[in-house]
Amino acid sequence: MINLRANSFYLVICFALTIVLSINCQSKNSTLDTINAQESNTSCLGDTITNKEKKIINQLSDSLLIIRLTGKFFPSKDSAFVLVKKPHSNRTIYLQKEVYSKFIEMFNAAKKEGINLTIISGTRNFYDQKSIWERKWTGKRILSDGTSAKDIKDPNKRALKILLYSSMPSTSRHHWGTDIDINNLNNSYFESGRGLKEYNWLVENARDYGFCQVYSDKKIENRTGYEMEKWHWSYIPIAAEYTKKYTELISYEKINGFMGCKHAKEIGAIQNYVNGINTECH
Ligand SMILES: [Zn+2]
Repeated sequence: MINLRANSFYLVICFALTIVLSINCQSKNSTLDTINAQESNTSCLGDTITNKEKKIINQLSDSLLIIRLTGKFFPSKDSAFVLVKKPHSNRTIYLQKEVYSKFIEMFNAAKKEGINLTIISGTRNFYDQKSIWERKWTGKRILSDGTSAKDIKDPNKRALKILLYSSMPSTSRHHWGTDIDINNLNNSYFESGRGLKEYNWLVENARDYGFCQVYSDKKIENRTGYEMEKWHWSYIPIAAEYTKKYTELISYEKINGFMGCKHAKEIGAIQNYVNGINTECH
């Protein structure tokens, strides 16, 4: 009788233990399943980016683009930029990597036809442009026509006069790392002899490498902004996107930090100058 009771007791205990172990096991399995599910959700194989993360990334890339478009950075410290080497330039010039590699292709093609293309200016940041602009604004530097901008008392007219020769800081395409000046800064150089040959070659071929003359002849094309610059070529695969983004991201409040900046809006620096380019270069 005692043995029977004892056996029954053991049976009950064993049954209870089996249930407990089974629950425990199920619980462990379900924990593992959860971990596995989580791992597969965060697997490096899957696209796990959330909408919130996407929004943060877009905001970050817009913030970086605003810095680049307004020139408030140092190209020598930016990994997207590279130092131009000899024989492509004799000066310390930085360009975006893709721009420089396309220039080298164009340089080599031109060389085969006896045309020499030398970069005489590339990326100029906000601080370079501020220095040029303010020296002209204060009359410390005489303008190319021999006059002093300081003698013009109306600040809007003074800014417009300087804009005949120099960009306003934060509105220059030279901030972007996509634009280069080639061989000479005078249109007259490109109108005869060697300069004319170089210019004709560029007009004929530069487009094949992505480059476009943004400041075209205003007599031929109805556009606002800078006078014709036969030396200034822009790498369109990147610069066309930057032109669009400039309108989207840069307001007049972001054009600041230099003498005369408050007049940028009154003279329409964005619509007339940043957007005043050759329609073929959009
Ligand atoms: Zn230029």
